[in-house]
Amino acid sequence: MNQNIIVYYEKIRRWAKNTAVVPVRKQACYGCYMRINDHTYANVIKGEEITSCPHCGRILYLESQFEEKSEEEQPEESASL
Ligand SMILES: [Zn+2]
Repeated sequence: MNQNIIVYYEKIRRWAKNTAVVPVRKQACYGCYMRINDHTYANVIKGEEITSCPHCGRILYLESQFEEKSEEEQPEESASL
């Protein structure tokens, strides 16, 4: 699998604690249902960086990258000793 995708997941997970994360469908943000521009959409597709919706500020992700359902609730693991 593409390592970048995994890193991207991790970034989103962190961001998701503070910010809503919404899927993009048909080049539209599913947080505010506004169409996102081509440049923003291209960034979401690339998935190299976190891209937020220019309209509502939510973090955007391409739904196709998240086909695997991993909604298992993981117990919070802290790195403290
Ligand atoms: Zn939006």
